[in-house]
Amino acid sequence: MAENQLAYVTDAMRRGWISGQGPYNDRAAELLAKVTGARHVLLCTSGTTALDLAALTFDPGPGDEIIMPSFTFVSSANAFVLRGAVPVFVDCRPDTLNIDEERIEAAITERTRAVMVVHYAGVACEMERIGKIAERYGLAVIEDNAHGLGGSYRGRPLGSFGSMAALSFHATKNVQCGEGGAVLLADDRLAERAEILREKGTNRRQFFRGQVDMYRWVDVGSAFQPSEIAAAHLAAQLEAFDEIQGRRHAVWNHYHQALAGWAKEQGVALPAVPDGCAHPAHLYYLLLPDLANRQALIGHLKERGVQAVFHYSPLHSSPAGRRYGRPAPGGCPVAENAADRLLRLPLYADLDESACARVVDAVTGYRVS
Ligand SMILES: *Cc1c(COP(=O)(O)O)cnc(C)c1O
Repeated sequence: MAENQLAYVTDAMRRGWISGQGPYNDRAAELLAKVTGARHVLLCTSGTTALDLAALTFDPGPGDEIIMPSFTFVSSANAFVLRGAVPVFVDCRPDTLNIDEERIEAAITERTRAVMVVHYAGVACEMERIGKIAERYGLAVIEDNAHGLGGSYRGRPLGSFGSMAALSFHATKNVQCGEGGAVLLADDRLAERAEILREKGTNRRQFFRGQVDMYRWVDVGSAFQPSEIAAAHLAAQLEAFDEIQGRRHAVWNHYHQALAGWAKEQGVALPAVPDGCAHPAHLYYLLLPDLANRQALIGHLKERGVQAVFHYSPLHSSPAGRRYGRPAPGGCPVAENAADRLLRLPLYADLDESACARVVDAVTGYRVS
């Protein structure tokens, strides 16, 4: 728990004003702007509602296509499906498990409006190439940056590449408040609209700033802003960001060094971090040679008191993915294969060295068959 977490939450409750528009919402947004360099930060009640707000602001027409990886969380796709758009699922790279930039062009049609990137484990997608493709075809870039707060690509923070980026502060993320999220925007006009959409389609925010003399219903919208209690929790976590990140990097580096020899010998791949990418130690995963070994290792670790879990089931082949979207030409064989082979190790800021060593011992006691 971050140092000021309880104190801030208690303070928010004592103030008696716990709906969304208060000092802790402002403070958390300010801290996020500092970490990400974003011009506009709109806190939301979850990463999922942040993506909903981003999609609502982006405003695709029915049947418009959004290119995105198959290997991601359902919320990346749901946000656009709810707006009547069609996700077109692109396969991932075998090394980073990010969208394969070389397969994006083949997925573009007349209906394509945007490319959504997801920086898996906070390791950046190949943004230079993707940016060039987007520019050539006149497409927007949108970032689902739920994993990547604090990560960067060639020195530039993740979340600053797209016209919009979504963050998540779900309990499983590096910085969290149980359920929370944010949209980052660079463009003033887009941000102005997003602010109205987040405020049930009213210009209430402009009213509170004294820009209009009454607030009215001016657009569509919904309620996406978190309460002061969640924002207080988040603000305390963000103040402790460097410390949290330091501890997570210590766990990540411990695993990476201690598992290298075993992985090489056993034909297991460890996370790849290409040159120019600084990752935020969000996930540590192994890629076993096949499904049978992945399942066997889960059992082996469980017997030794280590809980390790797999990750995404590819969207293109899921029931809703088939109904609402389609795979890009060539399908997504790499994503299907990676989903079968991937195993995540426990990674928390409060995992101390002896706990890490126990995990490593349990893993290296396994022999691939
Ligand atoms: C966690 C996550 C989300 C959703 O965030 P919630 O805060 O859980 O709603 C969206 N996309 C990705 C890639 C995520 O990892």
